[in-house]
Amino acid sequence: MSSETTTAQGNGKGTKERAQAALAAVPRPIAAQSADSSPIVTTDIDMSGRTLYLPRMPYGGSRLLVAAFHSIGFDAQVTPESDARTLELGGRYTSGDECYPQKVVMGDLMKLLEDDKLDPKKTAFMIPTANGPCRFGQYAALQRRVLDEHGYEDVVILSLTSADGYAGIGGHARELIRTGWRAVVVNDILMKLLLKTRPYETQPGETDRVYLEALEAASAVLARPGVTHKEKMADLKAALRRMKKAFLAIPVRDEDRPLIGVVGEIFCRLNTFSNEELIRHIEAQGGECWLAGVGEWMWYTNEEQFRRYREEKRRLSKDWAKTFITKRIQLQDEHALMEEFHDLFHGYEEPPVTEIIELARPYLPQSGAMGEMVLSTGGTIFYHGKGADGVVDISPFTCMNGIITEAVYPKVSREHDNIPIRVFYFDGTQSDLERDVGIFLELARTYKRRKRVRRG
Ligand code: SF4
Repeated sequence: MSSETTTAQGNGKGTKERAQAALAAVPRPIAAQSADSSPIVTTDIDMSGRTLYLPRMPYGGSRLLVAAFHSIGFDAQVTPESDARTLELGGRYTSGDECYPQKVVMGDLMKLLEDDKLDPKKTAFMIPTANGPCRFGQYAALQRRVLDEHGYEDVVILSLTSADGYAGIGGHARELIRTGWRAVVVNDILMKLLLKTRPYETQPGETDRVYLEALEAASAVLARPGVTHKEKMADLKAALRRMKKAFLAIPVRDEDRPLIGVVGEIFCRLNTFSNEELIRHIEAQGGECWLAGVGEWMWYTNEEQFRRYREEKRRLSKDWAKTFITKRIQLQDEHALMEEFHDLFHGYEEPPVTEIIELARPYLPQSGAMGEMVLSTGGTIFYHGKGADGVVDISPFTCMNGIITEAVYPKVSREHDNIPIRVFYFDGTQSDLERDVGIFLELARTYKRRKRVRRG
């Protein structure tokens, strides 16, 4: 792990130049970062008899998505926990130029093939893909090449993109997308419950236990096949009510902790192996975290799709109407699932993604800025407005998005009450995370005493 500070107190030396270089590397005109415009188009995937493995992003979200796959009759599993062997194999099958998340995903998948000796003919990996301003769009293709070069041609890679008509999912695509979206919302709800409760628990481990039980209960509902969306929603809401009760029953102590917003690159931020459990470190040293969830990214890709329709003058086209209706249904589902939690999440409300985009606008170039750099910058300002006491950005070392946000954070901090902001970079090498977190929390505590924006 390597980390650099870019708070108002930090120097940010050299980051401007690196950010300019990163932006200069962005191809123009910029393609919208959307799965819809994926460069990986595959139409002849046969998934029968295969087990589909999903990367942990985060574990709970992938566990619930696995349940959504089960509901359409797919055999799916979350990849086993990452470890030193993950990094060994990830390093062996990548060149060193790839981003850290690719190394972790590669290592986990090769571990299944090399150590667990999975039958390639019965194995499939899900690798999300998209076109966009960074290396993300290359990784499904790279994974394919590595598999082919090492005798694993029969392994299927599923990218779940509308660009290939959701190849491999066939007639179940619509059902999966609806149930999958509900899985995303439930994951974000459970994650919020976990992070709001765990720092205050009086019996260590109790919140994690309740969280894992809640994941299993939600998975059981999501996985049921042949149930109408209406029935499934009713069952999910009933299960969420029970989960809420279980979380509220956890014994907690009354404590005034600094609240730390967590933004950054989506994989590294959500994959606890990649970020060396940074959130637990913050909690152990007296903080509470508010983590940007998975839903934010889905809303963002929707907005990007609308932006593309506008640019291509396809407003009111058939595709536009489809996206519009999908968004309406997703909003409806989100409202229905969140209904039970308005009281509990008071002060922790997620903003519409359009608000985040607008907040970021003054700090990023008019063209070329997209994806996580927008969400992390806007998210940081949003957390400041909600009375957070500091923001950490979790990014893989050399991440193009991280480099750019690191360059703008000093200005963001200056113009927002000098709120402490720190980028934590990760690449699988060791450093003194405990010390770095301790220093950051000291800054957050100092800010908490003098800040002008109160919680609420
Ligand atoms: S967001 Fe960063 S880490 Fe992720 S693929 Fe792009 S450059 Fe790599």
